[in-house]
This record gives sequence, C-alpha cells and structure tokens, in this order.
Amino acid sequence: MEEVEKVRCLIIGSGPAGYTAAIYAARANLSPVLYEGIVPGGQLTITTDVENFPGYPEGVSGIDMMEDMRKQALRFGTDIRAGIVTKAVLVPNKNRITIDQKKEVEATTVIIATGATAKYLGLPDEVKYGGSGVSACAVCDGFFFRKKTVAVVGGGDTACEDALYLSGICAKVYLIVRKSHFRASKILQERVLSVENIEVLFKHEVAGLFGENSVEGAILLKNRHEKVPEEVTISIDGLFLAIGHHPNSGLFVEYLKTDETGYIKTIPGTPKTEIPGVYAAGDVADPHYRQAVVAAASGCKAAMEADLYLMENGL
Ligand code: NDP
Repeated sequence: MEEVEKVRCLIIGSGPAGYTAAIYAARANLSPVLYEGIVPGGQLTITTDVENFPGYPEGVSGIDMMEDMRKQALRFGTDIRAGIVTKAVLVPNKNRITIDQKKEVEATTVIIATGATAKYLGLPDEVKYGGSGVSACAVCDGFFFRKKTVAVVGGGDTACEDALYLSGICAKVYLIVRKSHFRASKILQERVLSVENIEVLFKHEVAGLFGENSVEGAILLKNRHEKVPEEVTISIDGLFLAIGHHPNSGLFVEYLKTDETGYIKTIPGTPKTEIPGVYAAGDVADPHYRQAVVAAASGCKAAMEADLYLMENGL
C-alpha cells in the first residue's frame, strides 16, 4: 500500500476557478497540489473564442486561455498533476482524497473546483455540429451569430434569459419548448413573450440538424407524443442548448449541503462550505452566473480563505 501523501492545499479541477485558486495559493506559499480531472482545462477548452474575459481585447481561444492560466499556476510552483478524484472523505483538516482509485492524499484544506457539465439532448447532430453552430452557452457564443437566426432549446429560466440575450444580438430567435408551457418564472415568460423577434414554439422538440459545413436548419417534431407528430423545418444558423447543467458534485454530496440540483451550497458571498477548510469555487457552486470570470474570482476567494484558515489554526 502506497504511503498517504500529506498536502496543505489540494485543488480539484482545472478550469478558471481551479487555476486561479492555484495561482493565489502558490503565491501564498501553500504548496498547492492540483488534480486536473476528466477535462483538463475545463469547459472553456470545448468552446471556441472567449471574448468576454477582461484583458483580451481581441478575444482568445478557450484552449489558449486555459493554457495561459495553467502556465501562470506552474510559474509560482503549483504541482499540477493528471488524475481524477474517485473518492473523497471530508473530515476537518484530514480530508482523504483518492486519486484514480489508488493513490491517497490527506489534505488539510480542499478547494473543490470541479465545474458543471451542460446537458445536451443526446442527438448525434449535436456532436457533428459542435463548434459549428451548436453551443450550450449563449453569453459565450451569441456574438458569433449577430444579425443571424438562432434557436434556443428549453423552457426554464436559463432558456428564457438566453433567448432574451440573443434577441438583442440576432435577427430572430426561436425558443423551442417541449411542453405546452414554460418552466421559467412568470416575469421571464412575460418578457420573452413581449419581444418581437422571439418566436416561441411550444410542444416542439429537435429531431435533427442539417447544413453543409455548419448548421443551416433544424428538423423539429411538433406534438411528438401524439399519434401523428408533425415534422417542422426551420432555417437557423445556430442552436443553443439551455436544458440545464449537471454540477460535478457527486463525490461530495455525502458531506456537503447542495441545492436540489446538486450545486454545492456555500456561505453566501464566500466559497466556504460547512466543513472548515473545505471550499467550493466556480460552477460547481454557482447555479446562476456560470461565467469564467466569476469562477476565477471565486477561486481567488477560496485560496485566500484557505490561507487564512491555515494561518489562524497554525496548520
Ligand atoms: P431547468 O432545469 O429549470 O429547466 C430546464 C428546461 O429544459 C425545462 O424547461 C425542461 O423542460 C427543458 N428540458 C430538459 N431536458 C430537455 C430535453 N431533453 N429536451 C427538451 N427540453 C428539455 O434549468 P435552468 O438551467 O433553466 O435553470 C436551473 C436553475 O437556475 C433553476 O433553478 C433556475 O430557476 C435558476 N436560474 C435562475 C435564473 C434567474 O433567476 N434569472 C436564470 C437562470 C437560471 P420541462 O419543463 O419539460 O422539464
């Protein structure tokens, strides 16, 4: 049996929250160890250009931005390792984290920055047109569709907000809702219904996409669950999924409070969880904003809190 390695500050995840936490923790001499997780670099490595992160006036590719953050974390001495956390036993000051089902680490402080994963419909066409017309982030990618026609899928608050956001950029927005009613809050429903260039298609579902090199249209099924569903074709340049996210919190739910969707609950305004020395930063604890810059800021807060905790407790 391998000896248990002791670490003062363990960071789980390598998106903007994880790397920012690493930069701050390394500069505070916490000798952080960061495990990259399943998607090194996180969700931004699967988007196209990032144009809304301050400091990049010309925009930057998601991959390049995450590589820059990684280099910056390395520069101050973060020990960045490939590996996936497969088990976590959270106990104050003696958190036991298992990596790849074999290596064990005992961490005094833990920063959980495991992110969230956007849900997709599960259609092969979503994969085929990934990065060429299909996106799960309107705020990230909407600008690439200015003056064009797009569709948003979903009937919740996110879908309504995305449709409203896109209506200010695009010529026309279809909002494709599978039921005959929204799930979204009344106020957002009313706003959506009052905007001229948003057309809501209730009781419609996406069956497929078409287009030569990028999305040119979608085939929808109206009344899918009725005897004779009707096939409807719409011309669109982009399809935005807004059918929810899965926070990657499964390993920790036994120890930490989450909301009904699984987002880790933290003390408002801080990344502190109810376990002293354990912090949650970025999308895993953010059901609302889910933006790289917000995640980076919460990673910074988590590292500062970890530093304070270690200092105050003489650890
Ligand atoms: P929700 O889970 O609330 O809504 C998901 C929507 O997607 C539902 O309309 C659902 O349909 C639909 N959907 C799910 N799967 C499919 C599918 N396979 N095909 C078609 N449609 C599908 O997720 P949100 O991201 O909208 O919201 C998450 C949380 O964040 C909520 O608590 C929300 O209130 C909150 N939020 C609040 C905001 C605000 O207050 N301004 C803004 C954004 C989010 P159905 O209804 O049929 O199940």
